[in-house]
Amino acid sequence: MNRFEYAMPSTVAEAVQLLGSNEEAKLLAGGQTLLPTMKQGLAAPELLIDLNGIAEVGQLTVLDDEIRVGAMCRHAAVAGSVAIREQAPGLAELAGMIGDAQVRNRGTLGGSVANNDPAADYPAALLALNATVRTDRREIGSDDFFAGLFETALEPGEVIREVSFPFCRQSAYVKFRNPASRFAMAGAFVAHHADGVRVAITGAGSDGVFRWFEAEEALNEDFGEEALTGLAVDPYLMLSDLHAGAQYRANLVAVMTRRSVKFAAARSEPE
Ligand SMILES: Cc1cc2nc3c(=O)[nH]c(=O)nc-3n(C[C@H](O)[C@H](O)[C@H](O)COP(=O)(O)OP(=O)(O)OC[C@H]3O[C@@H](n4cnc5c(N)ncnc54)[C@H](O)[C@@H]3O)c2cc1C
Repeated sequence: MNRFEYAMPSTVAEAVQLLGSNEEAKLLAGGQTLLPTMKQGLAAPELLIDLNGIAEVGQLTVLDDEIRVGAMCRHAAVAGSVAIREQAPGLAELAGMIGDAQVRNRGTLGGSVANNDPAADYPAALLALNATVRTDRREIGSDDFFAGLFETALEPGEVIREVSFPFCRQSAYVKFRNPASRFAMAGAFVAHHADGVRVAITGAGSDGVFRWFEAEEALNEDFGEEALTGLAVDPYLMLSDLHAGAQYRANLVAVMTRRSVKFAAARSEPE
């Protein structure tokens, strides 16, 4: 690892100011991605700005119609929240499926969505739940946030404060894990909102997370797994790597989505 300076601000404003002070500075959340890339020499920041001392981004707030998850909330906190399990069960189950206990106790929502790994789980929740990302300077809707493999709408120096997830009627997340890393080889998040269904697929698309609009259309007609009979994603738009070929991933997408619809449809709507 290269030598670097280290700072631990106590407010987001301070973090933004430090980030603007050095082009080679990087934010440190749980370090689950950043530290391994530094150890491998793939990243060499001159300044690490540790967000762990900022209380304002660690809150988890349940309002009347939405849940606000601070950027520094650990996956374990989201998985273990009784309020989230009641109001947004798909979100809690997704967080509980990330990695292993160590990863869930260090990894954060902000780090995961800023990184936008094509096999990460959270991007599917943001897209299906129609979430809003709040940064130090603006709000970004999830449809505008993810911009391809490891790319987001975040500008240089921008810090995620929190993500708000509106309540929906029913939701579920199902993924086919890579047996080694537990990242998704295909994951389907289905959210049944009062004004329509949203289906988001992670782990499979060659351009990262995406909405499966044909499935949404079919489920808007009839919210049940039978509505998906005969529907498939285009294998030419799927990832192909040593873990799984594109055709196999396309099949996984259909199977994971059907299962996710089945679980969501069986859930009673939150009061
Ligand atoms: C063994 C292992 C297994 C894993 N399995 C899964 C899995 O199954 N599913 C899954 O989804 N993920 C998985 N992960 C990823 C993990 O869940 C973390 O969410 C992810 O690695 C990001 O880590 P972090 O939150 O610690 O962020 P860091 O590594 O600290 O940061 C990641 C990036 O985000 C930037 N960043 C951090 N916070 C902010 C912020 N508030 N605003 C702007 N930019 C920010 C950092 O500068 C850095 O570039 C796994 C990781 C490991 C090591």
